[in-house]
Amino acid sequence: MVDKFFQPISGMELPRFAGIATFMRLPYVPEGHPRAGDVQIGLVGLPWDGGTTNRPGPRHGPRALRDASTMIRAQNGATGFRPFEKANCADLGDAGPNPVDGPDTLARFETYFAALHARGIRPLSAGGDHLCTLPVLRGIAKGGPLGLVHFDSHTDLYPAYFGGKTLTHGNPFRNAVEEGLLDPKRMIQIGIRGTTYDNIDTDFAKANGIRIVRIEELFARGIPDVMAEAREIVGTAPAYLSYDIDFVDPAVAPGTGTPEWGGPNAFQAIEVVRECRGMTLAGADMVEVSPPVDINGQTAWLGASLMFEILCVMAA
Ligand code: MN
Ligand code: MN
Repeated sequence: MVDKFFQPISGMELPRFAGIATFMRLPYVPEGHPRAGDVQIGLVGLPWDGGTTNRPGPRHGPRALRDASTMIRAQNGATGFRPFEKANCADLGDAGPNPVDGPDTLARFETYFAALHARGIRPLSAGGDHLCTLPVLRGIAKGGPLGLVHFDSHTDLYPAYFGGKTLTHGNPFRNAVEEGLLDPKRMIQIGIRGTTYDNIDTDFAKANGIRIVRIEELFARGIPDVMAEAREIVGTAPAYLSYDIDFVDPAVAPGTGTPEWGGPNAFQAIEVVRECRGMTLAGADMVEVSPPVDINGQTAWLGASLMFEILCVMAA
């Protein structure tokens, strides 16, 4: 039975430019709300970009994604799937960062997601930079390492930057593997391209059995073939989906800090998510949307559209 409370406000009832902007016009259900115990998938903003090594801005991502997501309707045009009728989805608000203290922010996020996990809520987060993924994984990978399907133009498998043990948006997945949060044999990274410092990231991938699909291979083989392999690698055990918007070509998605040319178009960006069908997602995120360098909000709109496609996989 469909729970009316958890249905998004339709544009047939209230125009989509009106009202308070929540993710996909879902109800706002913070902790302590009378219906908080009934949420199954929680949409969460992570307004933090303290892991950014170059151009900052994704701290403003959640607001822009919320605003753009008011254009989302209830039914997937391609598949006919209606995710809000399959799972109770709600906007949980933001996990609050400490913008001047990275380690404190990581600890706050981890505590937040561990609490969600304990309540049985699966998160779909909106970043924030890609370092936000690490504390999410620390919070939810409680039942053993997760599989990972990762769309990005970068591997984010680099060792510490600037000496010491500095965490950045360039190394969340290396740390997640080293901490036992992810099973490297059930990891696939798709869309990798651009100039690199060296091979230190791909050497780590090889040594640990992480599958990397460069953009040349994705285009040569085609999306359905590569994604069939992704479904095989990730399997049906619990997995995480992480989507860095810089996977998409910057002609389509310019609003991001580390763009790389030669990427997928908007249709292909959506298609790869639909091809994740059948995966058991313990959580997912959309990261690196940077409104200060966006044009006409187009990157935020694509990011919000991709969040809907991800939600369709999560709710199936
Ligand atoms: Mn990334
Ligand atoms: Mn990237």
